[in-house]
Amino acid sequence: MESDADDSLARRVHQILDRIRCAAERAGRLPEMVRLVAATKTVPAERIREGLGVGLSLLGENRMQEALSKGALLRDLSPRWHFIGQLQRRKVRDAVGTFELIHSVDSVELAQEINRRAGDAGIQQAVLLEVNIADEASKAGFSTQGLMQALGLLGDLPHLRIHGLMTIPPPTEQPEDARPYFRDLRELGARIAAQRISSVVMQEYSMGMSHDFEVAIEEGATLVRVGTAIFGARHG
Ligand SMILES: *Cc1c(COP(=O)(O)O)cnc(C)c1O
Repeated sequence: MESDADDSLARRVHQILDRIRCAAERAGRLPEMVRLVAATKTVPAERIREGLGVGLSLLGENRMQEALSKGALLRDLSPRWHFIGQLQRRKVRDAVGTFELIHSVDSVELAQEINRRAGDAGIQQAVLLEVNIADEASKAGFSTQGLMQALGLLGDLPHLRIHGLMTIPPPTEQPEDARPYFRDLRELGARIAAQRISSVVMQEYSMGMSHDFEVAIEEGATLVRVGTAIFGARHG
């Protein structure tokens, strides 16, 4: 017997997928160019399992330990995992190869460590570079200028494949207020692409969360990270 909770999860997932499609169409973009990453921090594995049964396929986790234990519990469904949280250098060895994409490379040192561990594992790790787009003192990520300066170095790391950019803009009252930040990230990506560094491809823009993902899609997001709008408010 299905509970009300199951029904409402299915309904929410379908609503979000609909809203993604509509936002893409409004912007004259192909809906399949925008993928939903379900942000699953604090969500129990059984709840994620329900989500995978009603249309989710791509999961984003913030903490290594939580990701590894849920990964083990959900292995039979072989979901695709992305890492979206701050990655500590001592956790890099576990992260490399475990995640299809690491969204949150926020320093040259972290990039070098991922490169080293990926080299040890004989693989290339796909990553996004996290940008602190509004230059907030408290926030992780490259500054725009810092990233432009680091590009040469980053582009020389043979076991890293840089697929694009990620940002978490400052909290805003209205979703619309986040638009300039999303636009800035896209423009930064275009500037980087213009440098034609062979190992750096600007095809993914990870931006937009529950509050503002439609605006992000209108500004070119290819990956939206949505948690509370799918699973409800987080406790703890
Ligand atoms: C939790 C989280 C999200 C999802 O946030 P919601 O507001 O719950 O949609 C997106 N990105 C990152 C990096 C997160 O940590």
